[in-house]
Parts: sequence; C-alpha cells; structure tokens
Amino acid sequence: METTLKKQGMYENVMRQFNRAADTLKLDEGIRKILASTNSEIVVHFPVKMDDGRIEVFNGYRVQHNNALGPYKGGLRFHPTVDIDAARALAIWMTWKTALAGLPYGGGKGGVSIDPSKYSLAELERITRRFTFSLGENIGPDVDIPAPDVNTNPQIMAWIADTFASTKSPSTRMVNMHVVTGKPVGSGGLEGRDRATGFGVVATIKQWAKKENIDLKGKRYIVQGFGNVGYWASHFLSHLGAILIAVQDETGTYYNHEGINPEDLLAYSSKHRGKVAGYGNATEIPAEDFFGLECDILIPAALGSQITLDNVHQIKAQLIAEGANGPTNIDAEEVLLSRGVRIIPDILCNAGGVIGSYFEWLQNKRSENWKIEEVLEKIEDKLALSFQKTIDTADEFQTDWRTGAYMVALKRIEQTYKERGVFP
Ligand code: NAD
Repeated sequence: METTLKKQGMYENVMRQFNRAADTLKLDEGIRKILASTNSEIVVHFPVKMDDGRIEVFNGYRVQHNNALGPYKGGLRFHPTVDIDAARALAIWMTWKTALAGLPYGGGKGGVSIDPSKYSLAELERITRRFTFSLGENIGPDVDIPAPDVNTNPQIMAWIADTFASTKSPSTRMVNMHVVTGKPVGSGGLEGRDRATGFGVVATIKQWAKKENIDLKGKRYIVQGFGNVGYWASHFLSHLGAILIAVQDETGTYYNHEGINPEDLLAYSSKHRGKVAGYGNATEIPAEDFFGLECDILIPAALGSQITLDNVHQIKAQLIAEGANGPTNIDAEEVLLSRGVRIIPDILCNAGGVIGSYFEWLQNKRSENWKIEEVLEKIEDKLALSFQKTIDTADEFQTDWRTGAYMVALKRIEQTYKERGVFP
C-alpha cells in the first residue's frame, strides 16, 4: 500500500513540536542546542544468509538522542520506512516521553529497513541476531535498552537478548540478558508488558473522560492499526462499554455500525498473519473513508504522519488518543485545535509501554517477579500523574496539551543540565 511506503516527514514534525515548546518555555539557549541534535547515530550494513543460500545485505539503525536522565531507551522497528530520519524522530520522541513519565532514561530508537512478511522465521532470526551483533557495545543494560515496536515482538527481543549475552563473557550472561525489555515472560519479561501500551492509552482516555465529565459507555471509537497497541487499546476500551465501529490496517478498512468485537477480530487476524483483510463480521470500506467516520474517539495506532492536511478536515472525533508515535502532523494539529478537538499527545498517551519496560528492567535488576495487577496499577498511577502535570502546565501557559507535555519533559532535562553542567 502506497501510504505504508511514502516518506513520513516525522523528523520535521518532531523538531517543529520541540521548537514550539522551547519557545513557550524560553528554554536555555545552550540546552536547546544540545537537545536539537542527537548524541550519536549508528548505521550498520550487515550480511545475512537466506534460506536458499543467497546473501542479502540489510541496513540497520540506532539513534541515541539524549541520555542526560539515564540510559537510552526506545524500540526497534522492522519496517520499510525505517531510515535515519525516522530513527532520529522516534529517538527524540522517546527522550520527551521518558522525561515526562519521570523515568531514569534518555531516548533512543532504531530498527531495520525491511518488510518482515517477505522473510521466513528462520531468516528473521538470523537478521535479528546479526543486527544485534552489528550494534555491538552500543547497546547494553545500562547503556541503551531496546524494546518492541512495529513488527517486532517478544520473540525478537528474546533473540536479541540471547545474542547479546552469548557474545559476552559467560559470567555476565544473566545481567546481559537485560539488554532489552519486552522479553517473553519465561525469559525475564514482565507480566503485562504485552498490554502495557494499549492499557496506558485507555488509562489516559479515562483521565480525559474524568476531566470532561464524559461517560465512556456507549462512546463510539475507531482504531487505525490492529497490532499490539491497537488490539490492547480496543480490548480495554470495549471493556469500559465503548463501541469499536471501525478498524484499519495496511490490508483493509472494516466498519460495523453495530460494533466490532475486538476479541473476535483478534481471533480472525491471529489466523491471518496478524492482518484484518477478509474479516467477515464487518463491511470493507475504502481506506480513504476511515478518518471521516462518525465517531467520538479516534485512536491512531499504526505509523507516523497519518493525520495530515489532506484528511484532517474529514475527522469527526472529539478526541484523538495517539497510540502511535507521531501520527498527527503539526499543520493538521493546528486545524484540529482550532476546531476544539482534544489530542492526548503520543508522549503521554502511549507512555504505558515504556513505563512497563522500566518495571521490567527494575524487576530484572532486583531478580524479582511482579504480579500483573501490581504492574497495571502502577502504570495507571504514573500516567495519571503525567496527565495532571501536562494539563496543569498547558493551563498555566495557555497552550495545548502536546506543548504542555513537552514543557514538563524539557523542564526536567533543563534542570539536570543546570545542576550538572556540561563536561569539561
Ligand atoms: P505492530 O506491528 O504490532 O502493529 C502495527 C499495526 O499497524 C498493524 O496492524 C499494521 O497492519 C498497521 N499498519 C501498518 N501500516 C499501516 C498503514 N499504512 N495504514 C494502516 N495501518 C497500518 O506495532 P505496535 O507495536 O502496535 O505499534 C503501533 C504504533 O504504536 C507505532 O507507532 C509504535 O511506535 C507505537 N508504540 C508502540 C509501543 C509498543 O509497546 N509496542 C509503545 C509505544 C508506542
């Protein structure tokens, strides 16, 4: 599908968001210069043997934006749109996200430019392991800790952890297994990390509903992307009585006025390589009609730069909860804000994932096993705090919620630099 492959313009978007918030905050000029650039950018080209014996060379990326608050943290994405600009933008968003959530992390992101559906499982394993090997000492449990993102999952995290630990001294094996979060539970993963992002999306929607005195029961919502974030957000929101009326992924757009049962759709997509194409309990509609559907809440949970000046005028929802990173272009956002549409910004809305990752990292460091109920409760508490700080700051500076969220994050990083100074 053309939209999947077109260049996403996310880097320009994140920098414009940053400049807007830095201006409003009157951020220290020196710190602004530091944060406007990335600390390091790693590009690797690595060979992998295919099942038929051919050699293919892949391009992998890891961008480390800033580590003033702690080790770099952020996902690895396997997708054809991964390039240095996408990795930069996504790494920068991670810095703001971890700072806003009050975590002891900086921001990093990366991935491989690849369409994983074209490779066998054995090939994907070799690609993942060789990519990990190529990243070498640039990642590590106290250096830079990757996690799942688009088209990567606990299995891929397990291969990364095993490769990383296997290429280090055997005496450090257990510690080095903690190089990634989002691992399978049997390999040191956290119970509930799988649902943490979608759960967090819904936790922030609940905060919005509480603030606006809105009953979520019966509210109609649409979801773009039915992967990890899209499914779990639908699961939790439908449990609150809201009605999922349309889902779009890269293979199709499905609508049912009476409602789509997320569990039924998951049962279907799980049997069809995770895709919704051909789903029988809803009607297929043209992809371009998706954003214009009559609904209360829109959850983008796929790729960046999906809501643009081309489609923003169709949007009917009163709330956009950004499960995806960077789904709304800044020009389109201005149109939405002028119409009074609320946006829960990505760095707040989808932060449940990295908060869950932080708990996994802590659990690993302490050799503990946390219960899922405890994990979800702690994620909800942290998000409630971030939500409150965001709206308080936005109110104080008479600005939108995204700028408010950025300002909370930037203030925290600015304070650190002011306290520690810049070496030497
Ligand atoms: P995923 O690979 O599990 O799912 C991605 C979904 O997007 C799939 O359903 C796919 O078909 C769909 N998609 C891809 N291209 C599309 C297109 N052009 N139009 C419509 N749908 C399309 O990935 P995920 O982990 O659910 O991540 C989704 C988004 O959430 C990404 O922006 C990611 O950065 C963000 N995010 C993920 C996490 C996490 O913990 N996984 C955390 C924070 C943010």
